[in-house]
Amino acid sequence: MTTERIAEFFKTRRPEGPCLVVDREVVRDNYTAFRRALPDSAIYYAVKANPAPQILELLASLGSNFDCASVAEIEMVLEAGAGAERISYGNTIKKERDIARAHALGVKLFAVDCHEEVEKIARAAPGAKVFCRVLTDGEGAEWPLSRKFGCVPPMAVDVLVYAHQLGLESYGVSFHVGSQMTKLEAWDAALADAKRVFAQLAKQGIYLQMVNMGGGFPTKYLRDVPTAEAYGQAIFAALSRHFGNQLPKTIIEPGRGMVGNAGVIKSEVVLVSKKSDEDAHRWVFLDIGKFGGLAETMDEAIRYPIRTERDGDEMEPCVLAGPTCDSADVMYEKNMYPLPITLTIGDEVLIEGTGAYTTTYASVAFNGFEPLKSYVI
Ligand SMILES: *Cc1c(COP(=O)(O)O)cnc(C)c1O
Repeated sequence: MTTERIAEFFKTRRPEGPCLVVDREVVRDNYTAFRRALPDSAIYYAVKANPAPQILELLASLGSNFDCASVAEIEMVLEAGAGAERISYGNTIKKERDIARAHALGVKLFAVDCHEEVEKIARAAPGAKVFCRVLTDGEGAEWPLSRKFGCVPPMAVDVLVYAHQLGLESYGVSFHVGSQMTKLEAWDAALADAKRVFAQLAKQGIYLQMVNMGGGFPTKYLRDVPTAEAYGQAIFAALSRHFGNQLPKTIIEPGRGMVGNAGVIKSEVVLVSKKSDEDAHRWVFLDIGKFGGLAETMDEAIRYPIRTERDGDEMEPCVLAGPTCDSADVMYEKNMYPLPITLTIGDEVLIEGTGAYTTTYASVAFNGFEPLKSYVI
C-alpha cells in the first residue's frame, strides 16, 4: 500500500531510477498485530525477507527475535542491537565453520533436518539447542517451499534422539507451511505431526519444549488475505487440539507478513510497443524486472498491485516485462496484466506490496543495471 508517508517521499525526494521505499510505521503495525494475534509465541523475524539495517533496528527495539540463515545475517542482527540469545540459526544447510562462528558469537539455537547436520553441530557448537524441521506438503501456498528442507516426522524422532546422544539439547520441532499461505488450516496437520514427534520422544525420556511454526503469513497483493488475528485464532485452536493443556513454547518466523505491505517500488515505463500491426496486445517494458528485484514473479507466482497516474482510464491486458536482455525477464505474459491504454513512455508506475523478497533478490549488475536502491522512512 502506498501510505501517505511513502507518497510524500516520492513527491519531495523524486529519487532517480527504480527504488523501494519502506514505511517503518507499517512494519511496526505488523509487529504489533502479530504480537496481539499470538501473544504467547515468540516472534523471530525472518531476516532474509528484508535485512535493511533500519528494519532490523526497529524490530530489535520492539523486542523481536530473529531467524537467520547465514553468519552475515547473524552479524547484521547483532549490529542492529539484538543479543545472540535472540537469534536462531534456522537454515538446515550450514558449513561447519559457519556453525562454529555462530557459536563463538553466542548463538545457541540451531535447525537440523538430518543426522549429518546434527554431527556438525555437536562438533562445532557443543551443548547447543537444536530443533528438527519436518516436511509439510505446502499445499495452498502461493510460493511453496518444496521438499528441500525438512525430513519426514519418523526420521525427525531419530534425528532428535541422535542429537540427545551427542550431548545436544533436543529442544523442539519446526516446520514451514509454505510462503504466502492463505489457508488458515495449513498449520493444523503440521502441528499434529509435531505432537507425534513430541510423544515418540517422551516415550524415550526426551522431553521437547518448543514448536517453531515458521512463516507463511501472507501479504495482501491483489486479493484480500485473512488478518493476523484470524491466523492467531486458527493456530491457537490447532495447538490446543493437538497438545491439549500441555502447550509447548512456540515461535513464529514471519518474513513476508512482517514487511511485504510496508514497501512500494517506484518504476518507470521504458517502452510500450507491439510485435506486429495486428498484435492485439501491448508489451509494456519497465525499468525493473525479474533481475532487478521482482524475482517472485517467476512462474507468475506473485502478482503485485500496480498503480499508475492514469488509473481510471480504460484498461487493457498487456504483457509486462523488465528491461534486461534476458528473454526470461518477463513478469506477466500467460496471465496478462490490465493497465490503462493511455499508459506511455516515461510514466511512473508504483508496484505495491514489494517490501519483502525484492532488494535481496536483485542481481548485482546484470546488463549493468544497479541493484535495487532502498530507502526506509
Ligand atoms: C523464509 C523463511 C521464513 C519466512 O517465511 P515467510 O513466508 O516469508 O513468512 C521463516 N522461516 C524460515 C526457516 C524461512 O526459511
